[in-house]
Amino acid sequence: MPLQTLADAFHDELRDVLSAEKQLVKALPKIAKAASSVDLRAAFEKHLAETKTQVERVEQAFEETGKAARAKTCEAMEGLLAEAASMMEEEADPEVMDAILIGCAQKVEHYEIATYGTLCTWAKQLGYTRAYKLLKANMAEEVATDEALTGLSETVNAEANS
Ligand code: FE
Ligand code: FE
Ligand code: FE
Repeated sequence: MPLQTLADAFHDELRDVLSAEKQLVKALPKIAKAASSVDLRAAFEKHLAETKTQVERVEQAFEETGKAARAKTCEAMEGLLAEAASMMEEEADPEVMDAILIGCAQKVEHYEIATYGTLCTWAKQLGYTRAYKLLKANMAEEVATDEALTGLSETVNAEANS
């Protein structure tokens, strides 16, 4: 089906982010398990709970489009998670692995922030006020997660470097 309008592009991108968030709900438990730092693991578990809510918000954001809330494989997230999975298979000191996990997770958060940035701009242009609020709420959680990971990296990186 050709994408003829900004509304079509918005719906398509919403399908992409729905796939991305669903992929994360599957992947985050494994990433949390791979973390040795108790604080880092807790941060991943907290974001897993948030991500489950994000899936619901994205599904609600479809309402104003009048089209089905059906995911369309986000290949970028597949790539980011494949890279994280192969790094988790590496033999590494636990502290070094924690530093690597933070790096992988921050790539994911930055990708999500970029996607929600586009979606919020488009929702505003389209006058989808409800979708805008829902997507902005997701974006705020991604930003907060990214900042929390930066905070945790200070201790984790220092330990990986000792
Ligand atoms: Fe997310
Ligand atoms: Fe994508
Ligand atoms: Fe996230």
